[in-house]
Amino acid sequence: MTIVDLVSFSGYHYTLETFAESRSTKWVSEAFHGGNIYITGNPPGPWDIPANPPQLFHSSKIELEVPNTASVKPCHKCRGRGSTMCGFCHGRGRRNCFRCSGTGRRTEFRDGSSEQVSCGCMGGQEWCSSCNGRGMNECRKCSGRGNLRWFIQLTVKW
Ligand SMILES: [Zn+2]
Ligand SMILES: [Zn+2]
Ligand SMILES: [Zn+2]
Repeated sequence: MTIVDLVSFSGYHYTLETFAESRSTKWVSEAFHGGNIYITGNPPGPWDIPANPPQLFHSSKIELEVPNTASVKPCHKCRGRGSTMCGFCHGRGRRNCFRCSGTGRRTEFRDGSSEQVSCGCMGGQEWCSSCNGRGMNECRKCSGRGNLRWFIQLTVKW
């Protein structure tokens, strides 16, 4: 191939970037630790709440509580009791002894012979270590408070 001529000219390279905002709402709940709930009027619409992107043309997300939407209700997970049944012992507070498998007796080997001895547990049972024998565990949903604070959360995405 033979190059017969060279002609120079200017070129442009464009990049088109779009930047949009979306807003969505959902009900969320958290453990209620006491205090007052103030309702001063009607809740504002999702687009009436001021929120500005931290930086233009950069993806980001913020979550805000919509004012005037909070209320306190008993926890649905524990029915307001603050504790739920222990899943390890099914509320019994005890479970089968790990060493004797619930029989209350175990075999001890000594000087080439073996004999059946009492395990030393509570007749084949031991306290459940997950709930410390209470049969109940603190409700994780309401942190043992029994009540939940519900409110509408606004999620703004850029
Ligand atoms: Zn035992
Ligand atoms: Zn338990
Ligand atoms: Zn609860």
